[in-house]
Amino acid sequence: MVYLVGAGPGDPGLMTRRSLELIARADAILYDRLIPAGALEGARPEAELRYVGKEPGAAALTQEETNGLLVELGRAGKRVVRLKGGDPFVFGRGGEEAEALANAGVPFEVVPGVTAGVAAPAYAGIPVTHRDAASAVAFVTGHEDPDKPESALDWDALARFPGTLVLYMGIRNLALIAERLTAAGRDPEEPAAVVERGTHPGQRTIVDTLAGIAARAHAESMRAPAITLVGPVAGLRDTIGWLERRPLHGEVVAVTRARAQASGLAAELRELGAEVVETPAIRIAPRPLEGELLEAVRRIGDYALVCLTSPNGVWLLFEALQATGHDARALAGATVAAIGPGTAAELERHGVRADVLPEQFVAEALVAALATIEVEGRPVLVARAAEARSVLPDALRERGANVDEVALYETVAEPLGEAERAALDRATYVTFTSSSTVRFLLESGVRPPEGARVVSIGPVTSATAQEHGLTVHVEAERHDVDGLVGALTADAAQRRVPA
Ligand code: SAH
Repeated sequence: MVYLVGAGPGDPGLMTRRSLELIARADAILYDRLIPAGALEGARPEAELRYVGKEPGAAALTQEETNGLLVELGRAGKRVVRLKGGDPFVFGRGGEEAEALANAGVPFEVVPGVTAGVAAPAYAGIPVTHRDAASAVAFVTGHEDPDKPESALDWDALARFPGTLVLYMGIRNLALIAERLTAAGRDPEEPAAVVERGTHPGQRTIVDTLAGIAARAHAESMRAPAITLVGPVAGLRDTIGWLERRPLHGEVVAVTRARAQASGLAAELRELGAEVVETPAIRIAPRPLEGELLEAVRRIGDYALVCLTSPNGVWLLFEALQATGHDARALAGATVAAIGPGTAAELERHGVRADVLPEQFVAEALVAALATIEVEGRPVLVARAAEARSVLPDALRERGANVDEVALYETVAEPLGEAERAALDRATYVTFTSSSTVRFLLESGVRPPEGARVVSIGPVTSATAQEHGLTVHVEAERHDVDGLVGALTADAAQRRVPA
């Protein structure tokens, strides 16, 4: 069975549920260049992934070879996904592939996708139809060959077309196209737009008149892939434009925390319009459940006070509890202290509400918040990372507590791959959520790129950054993810020239 599947215009969120389902089940996936980042992440590890796209100039496979391969794999009884950008039947040669399969008697299914010609304008704030401004829309493609862009198109008919023209083609033909349309009678003053990399985080849009659009595209160095749109609806962008007005649109933000921890921060930044690159400097390595750690977990019910200093510590403690036959009730008799809201939220997820949560999210503040808790002569557990600072246990010991410190995990260096280094080099902001991310990144010889703004979650992380010769441009006032995102967004707003 062969599935001709549209992957949408680039935003992974615009992939259909059906496309993800089929990718997850496929034996083989034949994909093109313009598919969303991460589109193949859900594929089975043993699936055969094959790039069959056409580079401008050089073809990986000819269309006939691709058709032949689809037929061959389909006949062999494989579940084959032919994954294409946008919609497979809109200028995607999906029609030809379906014909080849039909002629060969190979069963197939077509899964439509969100086409760039509708989605890129939508993300730019341009509706392709509008009750007052356009009652029809034409999808148009031309040859990418600049010598003969006219061969397949009837310019007179297009000039007369009573509605929006959506052109799927390269920028370099733009001047010629605009000329042909105006020569054939289209109003040179009609609004026109070019949307580059539509629905991607780096999307750019220009709006001008039909007569002026080519020069403007040249001046702004607009590049492929791009959609050109001609019609009064382009003028609605001033009112409806939304994506490019988001506070972090155009920013590339590097997240250096461990991949397992990155998703919350990454999602918040994306929501604000940033392109997020994950460049994890560290990885969480759980300590084996043995020795002191095992002993402490077995005796968990004996502690008067249990202190947790990170969300990682919380879920690892609960894993350890489970492994030793305990559950949340093991903490019933203890006062439970969390260092910050992330840690408290992770506790709640496991059915425990923290009794103590300081206003500031550093060890010193937790020490202060614990001032009213009676600890003298009582057993206290501080469960945390192996390399954590000893401020908290020292302070508790000073007050006469019998403190057991156990390490649930350590953070170890995660060397960046080549792609991640390249991604980091494009960053306009580099975020650090702990001293260990600073240390491991810089000690591996990688530095934030020249010109990027360095954002730190708080004073301890900032101090480590400065020790390593980094200038910290932004420090969060609230030392958690929300605080960091807020500080970064405020910085970006300040640096932006008012529109
Ligand atoms: N099947 C695809 C179109 C393939 S033709 C679809 O339905 O969207 C390739 C052309 O599509 C490109 O030259 C460009 O004009 C357009 N295109 C594809 N993705 C785009 C994107 N993200 N932004 C702008 N244009 C895009």
